[in-house]
Amino acid sequence: MNAKKCAGCGVALQIEDAGRPGFVPEAARDREPVICQRCFRIKHYNDASSVAVDQDDFLRLLGGIASTDSLVVHIVDLFDFEGSMISGLQRFVGNNPVLLVVNKIDLLPRVTNWNRLRNWVQRQAKANGLKVADIVLCSARRNIGFDRVVEAVAELRGERDVYVVGATNVGKSTLVNRLISDYSDLERELTVSRYPGTTLDAVHIPLDDGHAIIDTPGIVYKSRLSEVIPREALQALLPDKPLKPLTYQFYERQTLFFGALARFDFVEGERQSFTAYVSAGIPVHRTKQERADELYANHRGVMLSPPSKEGLDEMPPLSRHTLRIPPGEPQDIFISGLGWITANGKTGAVVDVYAPKGVKVMLRESIL
Ligand code: GDP
Repeated sequence: MNAKKCAGCGVALQIEDAGRPGFVPEAARDREPVICQRCFRIKHYNDASSVAVDQDDFLRLLGGIASTDSLVVHIVDLFDFEGSMISGLQRFVGNNPVLLVVNKIDLLPRVTNWNRLRNWVQRQAKANGLKVADIVLCSARRNIGFDRVVEAVAELRGERDVYVVGATNVGKSTLVNRLISDYSDLERELTVSRYPGTTLDAVHIPLDDGHAIIDTPGIVYKSRLSEVIPREALQALLPDKPLKPLTYQFYERQTLFFGALARFDFVEGERQSFTAYVSAGIPVHRTKQERADELYANHRGVMLSPPSKEGLDEMPPLSRHTLRIPPGEPQDIFISGLGWITANGKTGAVVDVYAPKGVKVMLRESIL
Protein backbone atom coordinates (compact mmCIF):
# COMPACT_ATOMS: atom_id res chain seq x y z
CA MET A 1 0.00 0.00 0.00
CA ASN A 2 2.72 2.43 0.97
CA ALA A 3 4.37 2.29 -2.46
CA LYS A 4 1.12 3.01 -4.31
CA LYS A 5 -0.22 6.35 -5.53
CA CYS A 6 -3.77 7.65 -5.29
CA ALA A 7 -5.61 7.23 -8.59
CA GLY A 8 -7.35 10.55 -7.91
CA CYS A 9 -4.63 13.02 -6.97
CA GLY A 10 -1.38 11.08 -7.26
CA VAL A 11 -0.37 11.47 -3.61
CA ALA A 12 1.55 8.54 -2.09
CA LEU A 13 -0.93 6.34 -0.25
CA GLN A 14 -0.47 5.39 3.39
CA ILE A 15 -2.40 3.58 6.10
CA GLU A 16 -0.70 4.88 9.22
CA ASP A 17 -2.04 8.34 9.85
CA ALA A 18 -5.60 9.47 9.06
CA GLY A 19 -4.54 13.07 9.63
CA ARG A 20 -1.95 13.07 6.86
CA PRO A 21 -2.43 13.21 3.09
CA GLY A 22 -2.85 9.95 1.22
CA PHE A 23 -4.58 8.05 4.01
CA VAL A 24 -6.75 5.09 2.92
CA PRO A 25 -9.27 3.79 5.47
CA GLU A 26 -9.42 0.05 6.12
CA ALA A 27 -12.70 -0.44 4.28
CA ALA A 28 -11.34 1.07 1.09
CA ARG A 29 -8.06 -0.80 0.82
CA ASP A 30 -9.29 -3.59 -1.45
CA ARG A 31 -11.09 -1.31 -3.85
CA GLU A 32 -9.62 -0.81 -7.35
CA PRO A 33 -8.51 1.74 -8.26
CA VAL A 34 -7.44 2.80 -4.79
CA ILE A 35 -8.02 6.46 -3.95
CA CYS A 36 -7.19 8.40 -0.81
CA GLN A 37 -9.81 9.32 1.77
CA ARG A 38 -9.89 12.94 0.68
CA CYS A 39 -10.44 12.13 -3.00
CA PHE A 40 -13.09 9.62 -2.01
CA ARG A 41 -15.05 12.24 -0.15
CA ILE A 42 -14.67 14.85 -2.83
CA LYS A 43 -15.73 12.43 -5.53
CA HIS A 44 -18.83 11.32 -3.71
CA TYR A 45 -19.70 14.83 -2.68
CA ASN A 46 -19.36 16.18 -6.20
CA ASP A 47 -21.58 13.46 -7.57
CA ALA A 48 -24.30 14.86 -5.37
CA SER A 49 -23.71 18.60 -5.55
CA SER A 50 -23.51 21.35 -8.13
CA VAL A 51 -27.02 22.40 -9.04
CA ALA A 52 -28.04 26.01 -9.43
CA VAL A 53 -31.54 27.34 -8.83
CA ASP A 54 -33.44 30.53 -9.35
CA GLN A 55 -34.39 32.93 -6.62
CA ASP A 56 -37.87 31.62 -5.84
CA ASP A 57 -36.76 28.04 -5.22
CA PHE A 58 -33.84 29.28 -3.24
CA LEU A 59 -35.97 31.49 -1.00
CA ARG A 60 -38.29 28.56 -0.30
CA LEU A 61 -35.32 26.57 0.90
CA LEU A 62 -33.89 29.41 2.96
CA GLY A 63 -37.28 29.92 4.57
CA GLY A 64 -36.69 26.79 6.65
CA ILE A 65 -33.44 27.92 8.22
CA ALA A 66 -34.91 30.32 10.80
CA SER A 67 -36.66 27.48 12.62
CA THR A 68 -33.49 25.39 12.89
CA ASP A 69 -30.65 25.71 15.37
CA SER A 70 -27.69 26.10 13.09
CA LEU A 71 -24.73 28.10 11.92
CA VAL A 72 -25.13 29.78 8.53
CA VAL A 73 -21.98 30.12 6.45
CA HIS A 74 -22.51 32.69 3.72
CA ILE A 75 -19.82 32.58 1.03
CA VAL A 76 -19.39 35.69 -1.09
CA ASP A 77 -17.02 36.50 -3.92
CA LEU A 78 -14.81 39.49 -3.18
CA PHE A 79 -14.55 40.25 -6.89
CA ASP A 80 -18.35 40.48 -7.17
CA PHE A 81 -19.19 41.42 -3.61
CA GLU A 82 -22.48 43.27 -4.07
CA GLY A 83 -23.51 40.83 -6.81
CA SER A 84 -22.98 37.74 -4.69
CA MET A 85 -24.42 38.93 -1.34
CA ILE A 86 -27.74 37.14 -0.81
CA SER A 87 -30.29 39.87 -0.45
CA GLY A 88 -32.61 39.58 2.52
CA LEU A 89 -30.58 36.77 4.11
CA GLN A 90 -31.06 38.18 7.60
CA ARG A 91 -34.82 37.57 7.45
CA PHE A 92 -34.31 33.90 6.69
CA VAL A 93 -31.68 33.00 9.22
CA GLY A 94 -33.64 34.21 12.25
CA ASN A 95 -31.46 34.23 15.34
CA ASN A 96 -28.86 31.87 13.94
CA PRO A 97 -25.34 33.26 13.69
CA VAL A 98 -23.92 34.05 10.25
CA LEU A 99 -20.28 33.52 9.36
CA LEU A 100 -19.39 35.62 6.34
CA VAL A 101 -16.67 33.93 4.29
CA VAL A 102 -15.21 36.29 1.71
CA ASN A 103 -13.49 34.24 -0.98
CA LYS A 104 -11.04 35.03 -3.80
CA ILE A 105 -8.86 37.47 -1.90
CA ASP A 106 -5.97 36.24 -4.04
CA LEU A 107 -7.32 38.58 -6.74
CA LEU A 108 -6.46 41.74 -4.83
CA PRO A 109 -2.97 43.23 -4.95
CA ARG A 110 -0.56 41.76 -2.40
CA VAL A 111 -0.06 45.18 -0.84
CA THR A 112 -3.74 45.37 0.14
CA ASN A 113 -4.42 46.66 3.65
CA TRP A 114 -6.35 43.64 4.93
CA ASN A 115 -7.58 45.30 8.11
CA ARG A 116 -9.04 48.12 6.13
CA LEU A 117 -10.63 45.59 3.77
CA ARG A 118 -12.18 43.72 6.68
CA ASN A 119 -13.72 46.93 7.95
CA TRP A 120 -15.00 47.66 4.47
CA VAL A 121 -16.64 44.21 4.34
CA GLN A 122 -18.17 44.81 7.75
CA ARG A 123 -19.70 48.10 6.65
CA GLN A 124 -21.04 46.62 3.40
CA ALA A 125 -22.61 43.68 5.23
CA LYS A 126 -24.26 46.08 7.65
CA ALA A 127 -25.51 48.26 4.80
CA ASN A 128 -27.07 45.09 3.35
CA GLY A 129 -28.91 44.51 6.61
CA LEU A 130 -26.79 41.50 7.55
CA LYS A 131 -25.55 41.01 11.09
CA VAL A 132 -22.42 38.88 11.00
CA ALA A 133 -20.94 36.90 13.88
CA ASP A 134 -17.54 36.88 12.19
CA ILE A 135 -15.83 37.58 8.89
CA VAL A 136 -13.10 35.44 7.35
CA LEU A 137 -11.15 36.49 4.28
CA CYS A 138 -9.82 33.59 2.24
CA SER A 139 -8.88 32.12 -1.07
CA ALA A 140 -10.14 28.60 -1.70
CA ARG A 141 -8.11 28.38 -4.89
CA ARG A 142 -4.80 29.48 -3.36
CA ASN A 143 -5.44 27.89 0.00
CA ILE A 144 -5.13 31.13 1.96
CA GLY A 145 -7.03 31.65 5.20
CA PHE A 146 -8.68 28.29 5.11
CA ASP A 147 -7.51 27.25 8.58
CA ARG A 148 -9.26 30.34 9.88
CA VAL A 149 -12.48 29.27 8.12
CA VAL A 150 -12.32 25.86 9.80
CA GLU A 151 -11.57 27.47 13.17
CA ALA A 152 -14.39 29.97 12.88
CA VAL A 153 -16.85 27.25 11.87
CA ALA A 154 -15.76 25.15 14.85
CA GLU A 155 -16.07 28.07 17.28
CA LEU A 156 -19.43 29.29 16.08
CA ARG A 157 -21.05 25.96 15.36
CA GLY A 158 -20.80 24.46 18.83
CA GLU A 159 -23.09 21.48 18.48
CA ARG A 160 -25.09 22.56 15.52
CA ASP A 161 -25.70 21.87 11.86
CA VAL A 162 -23.99 24.11 9.33
CA TYR A 163 -25.89 25.56 6.38
CA VAL A 164 -23.67 26.76 3.55
CA VAL A 165 -25.28 29.35 1.29
CA GLY A 166 -23.96 31.33 -1.65
CA ALA A 167 -24.50 32.46 -5.21
CA THR A 168 -23.06 30.53 -8.15
CA ASN A 169 -19.35 30.79 -8.96
CA VAL A 170 -18.33 32.15 -5.57
CA GLY A 171 -16.15 29.10 -4.89
CA LYS A 172 -18.67 27.26 -2.75
CA SER A 173 -17.87 23.77 -4.05
CA THR A 174 -14.19 24.35 -3.55
CA LEU A 175 -14.75 25.45 0.06
CA VAL A 176 -17.28 22.77 0.94
CA ASN A 177 -14.89 20.13 -0.33
CA ARG A 178 -12.25 21.49 1.99
CA LEU A 179 -14.66 21.53 4.92
CA ILE A 180 -15.66 17.94 4.26
CA SER A 181 -12.13 16.69 4.13
CA ASP A 182 -11.26 18.58 7.30
CA TYR A 183 -14.33 17.72 9.22
CA SER A 184 -15.53 14.22 8.78
CA ASP A 185 -13.28 11.43 9.82
CA LEU A 186 -15.06 8.61 8.21
CA GLU A 187 -13.99 5.07 8.66
CA ARG A 188 -17.49 4.40 7.50
CA GLU A 189 -18.19 5.60 4.01
CA LEU A 190 -19.40 9.09 3.47
CA THR A 191 -23.06 8.95 2.61
CA VAL A 192 -24.11 12.18 1.04
CA SER A 193 -27.83 12.52 0.59
CA ARG A 194 -30.39 14.98 -0.62
CA TYR A 195 -31.93 16.89 2.21
CA PRO A 196 -35.20 15.25 3.14
CA GLY A 197 -38.32 17.34 3.02
CA THR A 198 -37.32 19.51 0.10
CA THR A 199 -37.47 18.83 -3.58
CA LEU A 200 -34.36 20.90 -3.95
CA ASP A 201 -30.88 19.65 -4.26
CA ALA A 202 -29.59 20.65 -0.91
CA VAL A 203 -26.92 18.14 0.00
CA HIS A 204 -26.73 16.68 3.47
CA ILE A 205 -23.25 15.70 4.57
CA PRO A 206 -23.18 13.93 7.93
CA LEU A 207 -20.47 14.85 10.40
CA ASP A 208 -19.07 12.54 13.01
CA ASP A 209 -20.86 14.19 15.90
CA GLY A 210 -24.32 13.45 14.52
CA HIS A 211 -24.70 16.88 12.97
CA ALA A 212 -24.37 17.79 9.33
CA ILE A 213 -23.18 20.25 6.76
CA ILE A 214 -26.10 21.20 4.53
CA ASP A 215 -24.86 22.51 1.22
CA THR A 216 -27.60 24.49 -0.49
CA PRO A 217 -27.70 24.99 -4.25
CA GLY A 218 -26.00 28.00 -5.74
CA ILE A 219 -28.44 30.83 -6.32
CA VAL A 220 -28.51 32.41 -9.77
CA TYR A 221 -28.78 36.19 -9.89
CA LYS A 222 -29.50 37.61 -13.33
CA SER A 223 -28.07 40.90 -12.09
CA ARG A 224 -24.53 39.54 -12.43
CA LEU A 225 -22.73 39.82 -15.72
CA SER A 226 -21.40 36.28 -15.24
CA GLU A 227 -24.98 34.96 -15.47
CA VAL A 228 -26.11 36.78 -18.59
CA ILE A 229 -23.14 36.43 -20.91
CA PRO A 230 -22.65 33.47 -23.24
CA ARG A 231 -20.71 30.53 -21.75
CA GLU A 232 -17.81 31.08 -24.17
CA ALA A 233 -17.04 34.42 -22.51
CA LEU A 234 -17.18 33.26 -18.90
CA GLN A 235 -13.59 32.13 -18.66
CA ALA A 236 -12.32 35.51 -19.82
CA LEU A 237 -14.59 37.28 -17.34
CA LEU A 238 -13.56 35.36 -14.20
CA PRO A 239 -10.05 36.48 -13.26
CA ASP A 240 -7.59 33.83 -12.17
CA LYS A 241 -4.62 36.05 -11.39
CA PRO A 242 -4.29 39.11 -9.15
CA LEU A 243 -6.06 42.04 -10.81
CA LYS A 244 -3.71 44.42 -12.60
CA PRO A 245 -5.01 47.94 -12.05
CA LEU A 246 -5.31 49.89 -15.32
CA THR A 247 -5.09 53.64 -14.74
CA TYR A 248 -6.29 56.20 -17.29
CA GLN A 249 -5.84 59.97 -17.20
CA PHE A 250 -9.08 61.26 -18.67
CA TYR A 251 -10.49 64.52 -19.93
CA GLU A 252 -14.25 64.60 -20.11
CA ARG A 253 -15.84 63.00 -23.17
CA GLN A 254 -13.55 60.00 -23.25
CA THR A 255 -14.69 56.39 -23.35
CA LEU A 256 -13.50 52.90 -22.41
CA PHE A 257 -14.88 49.66 -23.85
CA PHE A 258 -14.50 46.41 -21.93
CA GLY A 259 -14.63 43.94 -24.81
CA ALA A 260 -18.18 44.29 -26.05
CA LEU A 261 -19.50 43.64 -22.55
CA ALA A 262 -19.59 47.14 -21.11
CA ARG A 263 -18.75 50.75 -21.87
CA PHE A 264 -17.68 53.62 -19.60
CA ASP A 265 -18.00 57.31 -20.59
CA PHE A 266 -16.49 60.15 -18.58
CA VAL A 267 -19.21 62.63 -19.45
CA GLU A 268 -18.45 65.63 -17.31
CA GLY A 269 -15.84 66.82 -14.84
CA GLU A 270 -12.29 68.11 -14.46
CA ARG A 271 -9.39 66.06 -15.80
CA GLN A 272 -8.86 63.11 -13.45
CA SER A 273 -7.77 59.49 -13.29
CA PHE A 274 -9.86 56.33 -13.33
CA THR A 275 -8.49 52.91 -12.44
CA ALA A 276 -10.14 49.79 -13.84
CA TYR A 277 -10.00 46.42 -12.04
CA VAL A 278 -11.15 43.73 -14.45
CA SER A 279 -9.98 40.31 -15.56
CA ALA A 280 -6.90 40.32 -17.79
CA GLY A 281 -9.02 38.29 -20.23
CA ILE A 282 -11.10 41.38 -21.10
CA PRO A 283 -9.33 43.75 -23.50
CA VAL A 284 -9.91 47.43 -22.71
CA HIS A 285 -10.23 49.84 -25.62
CA ARG A 286 -10.00 53.60 -25.23
CA THR A 287 -11.65 56.10 -27.57
CA LYS A 288 -13.38 59.49 -27.77
CA GLN A 289 -16.98 59.58 -26.65
CA GLU A 290 -18.09 61.09 -29.96
CA ARG A 291 -16.72 58.05 -31.80
CA ALA A 292 -17.96 55.42 -29.40
CA ASP A 293 -21.40 54.62 -30.88
CA GLU A 294 -19.95 54.09 -34.30
CA LEU A 295 -17.06 52.03 -32.98
CA TYR A 296 -19.42 49.72 -31.13
CA ALA A 297 -21.74 49.35 -34.11
CA ASN A 298 -18.90 48.46 -36.48
CA HIS A 299 -16.55 46.47 -34.29
CA ARG A 300 -18.62 44.64 -31.68
CA GLY A 301 -17.83 40.94 -31.58
CA VAL A 302 -14.56 41.36 -33.48
CA MET A 303 -12.16 44.08 -32.31
CA LEU A 304 -14.44 44.62 -29.31
CA SER A 305 -14.75 41.12 -27.85
CA PRO A 306 -15.56 38.96 -25.95
CA PRO A 307 -18.23 37.98 -26.68
CA SER A 308 -17.97 36.92 -30.31
CA LYS A 309 -20.56 38.10 -32.86
CA GLU A 310 -22.63 34.95 -32.30
CA GLY A 311 -22.28 35.26 -28.54
CA LEU A 312 -23.60 38.81 -28.64
CA ASP A 313 -26.94 37.57 -29.96
CA GLU A 314 -27.44 35.69 -26.69
CA MET A 315 -26.62 38.68 -24.48
CA PRO A 316 -29.16 41.34 -23.46
CA PRO A 317 -28.49 44.69 -25.20
CA LEU A 318 -26.46 47.33 -23.36
CA SER A 319 -28.43 49.79 -21.28
CA ARG A 320 -27.20 53.11 -19.90
CA HIS A 321 -26.78 54.15 -16.26
CA THR A 322 -25.88 57.75 -15.45
CA LEU A 323 -23.94 58.09 -12.20
CA ARG A 324 -23.05 61.30 -10.39
CA ILE A 325 -19.90 60.86 -8.36
CA PRO A 326 -19.83 63.32 -5.49
CA PRO A 327 -16.63 65.25 -4.72
CA GLY A 328 -14.50 63.86 -1.87
CA GLU A 329 -13.28 60.32 -1.18
CA PRO A 330 -12.56 57.86 -4.04
CA GLN A 331 -15.58 55.87 -5.18
CA ASP A 332 -15.87 52.63 -7.14
CA ILE A 333 -18.14 52.34 -10.12
CA PHE A 334 -19.15 48.73 -9.60
CA ILE A 335 -20.38 46.57 -12.49
CA SER A 336 -21.49 43.23 -11.08
CA GLY A 337 -19.35 40.41 -12.45
CA LEU A 338 -17.08 42.65 -14.53
CA GLY A 339 -15.23 44.33 -11.67
CA TRP A 340 -15.02 48.00 -10.85
CA ILE A 341 -13.54 51.36 -11.89
CA THR A 342 -12.21 53.61 -9.14
CA ALA A 343 -12.79 57.32 -9.62
CA ASN A 344 -9.72 58.89 -8.01
CA GLY A 345 -10.70 62.53 -8.57
CA LYS A 346 -11.60 64.68 -5.60
CA THR A 347 -13.72 67.02 -7.69
CA GLY A 348 -16.59 64.75 -8.63
CA ALA A 349 -17.71 63.57 -12.08
CA VAL A 350 -20.65 62.49 -14.15
CA VAL A 351 -20.19 59.15 -15.89
CA ASP A 352 -22.34 56.90 -18.06
CA VAL A 353 -21.98 53.16 -17.76
CA TYR A 354 -23.44 50.83 -20.37
CA ALA A 355 -23.91 47.22 -19.31
CA PRO A 356 -26.20 44.38 -20.46
CA LYS A 357 -29.73 45.17 -19.38
CA GLY A 358 -30.48 43.96 -15.86
CA VAL A 359 -26.85 43.86 -14.68
CA LYS A 360 -26.28 45.69 -11.40
CA VAL A 361 -24.33 48.94 -11.75
CA MET A 362 -23.73 51.13 -8.70
CA LEU A 363 -21.44 53.48 -6.86
CA ARG A 364 -19.79 52.34 -3.67
CA GLU A 365 -17.16 53.40 -1.19
CA SER A 366 -13.84 52.37 -2.73
CA ILE A 367 -12.79 48.84 -1.75
CA LEU A 368 -9.04 49.54 -1.80
P1 GDP B 1 -19.39 27.42 -6.91
O1 GDP B 1 -20.18 27.62 -8.18
O2 GDP B 1 -19.71 28.49 -5.91
O3 GDP B 1 -19.46 26.07 -6.34
O4 GDP B 1 -17.87 27.75 -7.26
P2 GDP B 1 -16.65 26.84 -7.72
O5 GDP B 1 -15.98 26.24 -6.54
O6 GDP B 1 -17.08 25.92 -8.82
O7 GDP B 1 -15.72 28.00 -8.32
C1 GDP B 1 -16.21 28.90 -9.30
C2 GDP B 1 -15.05 29.54 -10.05
O8 GDP B 1 -14.31 30.38 -9.17
C3 GDP B 1 -14.07 28.52 -10.60
O9 GDP B 1 -13.60 29.02 -11.84
C4 GDP B 1 -12.99 28.50 -9.54
O10 GDP B 1 -11.75 28.12 -10.09
C5 GDP B 1 -12.97 29.94 -9.10
N1 GDP B 1 -12.48 30.10 -7.72
C6 GDP B 1 -12.88 29.42 -6.61
N2 GDP B 1 -12.21 29.85 -5.53
C7 GDP B 1 -11.35 30.82 -5.95
C8 GDP B 1 -10.38 31.64 -5.31
O11 GDP B 1 -10.12 31.60 -4.12
N3 GDP B 1 -9.72 32.54 -6.11
C9 GDP B 1 -9.95 32.63 -7.45
N4 GDP B 1 -9.24 33.53 -8.15
N5 GDP B 1 -10.84 31.88 -8.08
C10 GDP B 1 -11.54 30.98 -7.35
